Amino acid sequence: MSKIIYDYQTCNDDNFMDRIRIKGLKVFAHHGVYDFETEKGQNFYVNADLFCDTRKAGKSDELSDSTNYGEVCEFIKVWMEKNTYKLLEAVAENLSKAILLKYDLIKHVRLEICKPEAPIQIPFENVSVEVKRGWTTVFLSAGSNMGDSDNILKGAIDMLNKDSDMKDVKASKFIVTKPYGGVDQDDFVNCAIRLDTLLDPETLLDRLHEIESFYKRERKIHWGPRTLDLDIVFFGKSVYESDRLIIPHVDMQNRAFVLEPLAELAPNFRHPILNKSVEELLNSL
Ligand code: AMP
Repeated sequence: MSKIIYDYQTCNDDNFMDRIRIKGLKVFAHHGVYDFETEKGQNFYVNADLFCDTRKAGKSDELSDSTNYGEVCEFIKVWMEKNTYKLLEAVAENLSKAILLKYDLIKHVRLEICKPEAPIQIPFENVSVEVKRGWTTVFLSAGSNMGDSDNILKGAIDMLNKDSDMKDVKASKFIVTKPYGGVDQDDFVNCAIRLDTLLDPETLLDRLHEIESFYKRERKIHWGPRTLDLDIVFFGKSVYESDRLIIPHVDMQNRAFVLEPLAELAPNFRHPILNKSVEELLNSL
């Protein structure tokens, strides 16, 4: 059982963020489970809320300061026509990602894909799938004390940079630190990483484990030597718990090797539970 208890980056209606709204965009496309659907095609209607800060465009009255909704409509139409998925879920998932990757000013998108001509034998008005997806700012802590640690950390940062579900990856300077947890071992090289991701916390953890495995991370001794350790420190302002993941990282406030590089990237970022900034946490160590 897992739960996001609180996240200010999600745009629910009681946490209003500006939006551009597209309603009932009609597109003829070929999504469906049955062969006749993919062969013949049918009408789909798309509703989209594009969450973005419209203040700048509101003040300047310049289209270049906003997202051109005409262009977005055309983009959705072409995308819907050229791709074929069995499920509305897959249409919504992949189209929302395509929109977020294409339009920089859109932070979140709420997308409803309607299929009023779906093959259902009982009269019905409409069937649809709605998703909300967006960018979340994440802070990671990275460390290595086996092999060529500097190059391993640089390689990991490079892999994050190349991942299409991440953008604006920025690393702190590297620091050398004494090992934590009482195991006799070499010094560590540590850094903090900030990035924006489209992933949910669990998928992000899987992605980090893939990068660790690439560098042949072995989990032998708890707090023992490692080629690469990647931890999620903050995931937006989310407070999240599952069988394998606790966010914010449960011990970050006790670790100088986490807080010191993090303070370089986000000194004023406030811990959602402890309600102290990174700088305050570092100073109170
Ligand atoms: P360690 O190797 O000591 O860093 O522990 C890694 C394991 O801790 C991961 O496989 C996760 O299942 C678990 N874990 C719990 N919370 C976090 C977190 N915030 N970031 C990364 N791993 C976490």
